Amino acid sequence: MDIISHGLWGGVAFGRENKKSFWTSFIFGIAPDFFAFAPFFASVFLGLAEFPKFSTEPPVPDGIPQYIHSIYSFTHSLIIFAIFFIIFWIIRRKPFWEMAAWGIHILFDIPTHSNSFFPTPFLWPFSSAHVDGIPWAHPVIFFPNVILLVILYVYFFWFRKRSSIL
Ligand SMILES: [Zn+2]
Repeated sequence: MDIISHGLWGGVAFGRENKKSFWTSFIFGIAPDFFAFAPFFASVFLGLAEFPKFSTEPPVPDGIPQYIHSIYSFTHSLIIFAIFFIIFWIIRRKPFWEMAAWGIHILFDIPTHSNSFFPTPFLWPFSSAHVDGIPWAHPVIFFPNVILLVILYVYFFWFRKRSSIL
């Protein structure tokens, strides 16, 4: 799934109460990709690394440094997510629901990445199990995703006017 959709899914799933809750969920929704790719794009921007070839579909991941794959595995593991979620639950004495946007990011990535580009290592570090899914840029994923998001946002944030985020 693209990073904006991840944020929007997180927001609509766990951030419907108020603005703060929405943006917290949005940030948890984009965090797994942001932390994996931001250091790399920053280094490309600063001229320290070369921009990988994204002209092929799907892009070739060879030009992407190993440390990106390591961060990606960490942030895309349901096990790592569960550990953090439980730690925060214990500290706060109640579930930090906005944080669950991180969990649905992983669940959405599992079927929307193919083996050729960042398959989701959801059981890392115990298993390299992953699904050879349909890339999210494929029209059968991309358009239904956009349509569903529009429907949900219109319903929850405009039609029902339960929240003041828009
Ligand atoms: Zn992701």
